[in-house]
Amino acid sequence: MTDIAIQTQNLVKNFGAGDSLTKVLRGMDIQIYAGEFVIIFGPSGSGKSTLLNILNGLETPTSGNIIIDGNNINHISESERAIFHQQKIGMVFQAYNLIPSFSVMQNITLPLIFAKVPKIERDAKAKKILADFELSQLAHRLPSEISGGQQQRIGIMRALISNPPIVIADEPTGNLDSVATHNVMNLLLGLNRKYHNTTLIVTHDLSLSKYADRIIHIVDGSVIKETVKKSTTVSHVKSNKESIFEMTLKNTKKPLDRKLLRVLHLLLSSSQLDSFEQEELTRTMNFLAARKAGDIDQHELFENLDKPLTEGGAGMYRSTAHHIADNFESMMELLS
Ligand code: ADP
Ligand code: MG
Repeated sequence: MTDIAIQTQNLVKNFGAGDSLTKVLRGMDIQIYAGEFVIIFGPSGSGKSTLLNILNGLETPTSGNIIIDGNNINHISESERAIFHQQKIGMVFQAYNLIPSFSVMQNITLPLIFAKVPKIERDAKAKKILADFELSQLAHRLPSEISGGQQQRIGIMRALISNPPIVIADEPTGNLDSVATHNVMNLLLGLNRKYHNTTLIVTHDLSLSKYADRIIHIVDGSVIKETVKKSTTVSHVKSNKESIFEMTLKNTKKPLDRKLLRVLHLLLSSSQLDSFEQEELTRTMNFLAARKAGDIDQHELFENLDKPLTEGGAGMYRSTAHHIADNFESMMELLS
């Protein structure tokens, strides 16, 4: 078992070729910890659906790694991959994707039909989950006979019926009014807290941030920043051990170094700060000091932060190196 439920490394997705090439994901690095409730926020067209479809096996990436529950899914056969996705991930769609001619109960059991579960067992599970959601009265209705909010709850039940450890949802409240949005978000959050599944929700609605343990902001197919809420379940997946960053901050006396650490604190999320190893942090500080002294320019700062530790760099994710190099310029005046 690993603490990381979903990880992508330098994930790239292009559509088309030649003149019509569209670069949708440009080297995306994300890490989602087991049990977290994470929102990926980004404007329309930023690549959110493409990312989820790749995680769910509906699209294949152009390049990069996808590691789900410790398994690099590039390294398994296509048929294994289909079963793997079926077992690991439940997907909730914006448009509910219910089959109009199927009853609510039949729609809920679809994943079990694909998994060849016998009918008696399927029906028993559907009845139980409908009862848990207090929606048993809808079992024999058609999707057209229930409200949008109810349809989305059916979509959520369908995603959860085979108890997947990971639930991903693409704009699950995109078609709902504010009351139904609140109900659906509370339902997803409640299920996450009760069953400790890992939940990843994509939205372009920033007002949903309040539900998340952590928000990953993406623009144009890259992660630009992360924000972490304190006092949420993130603490249950992370150890309480003091991080290298915190220890360094406590033990550093030199004024310039203290200021550099504070600038890093402003630029990075706490999960990024907590993940620093000693050598990475030392080198990052040295490169920032060199930039401040004018010994290197902005581009060289980026290159040094991005370069692997083994090649003398700070070994950061490319998106993080970009983020620091881009924003450090305007923060240098804080250091004087
Ligand atoms: P989001 O969900 O954040 O709105 P998408 O992942 O749906 O963004 O799309 C990101 C970009 O990729 C858009 O510019 C879209 O036009 C393009 N895109 C998505 N799917 C395809 C496809 N199958 N072929 C070509 N371009 C696509
Ligand atoms: Mg989308």
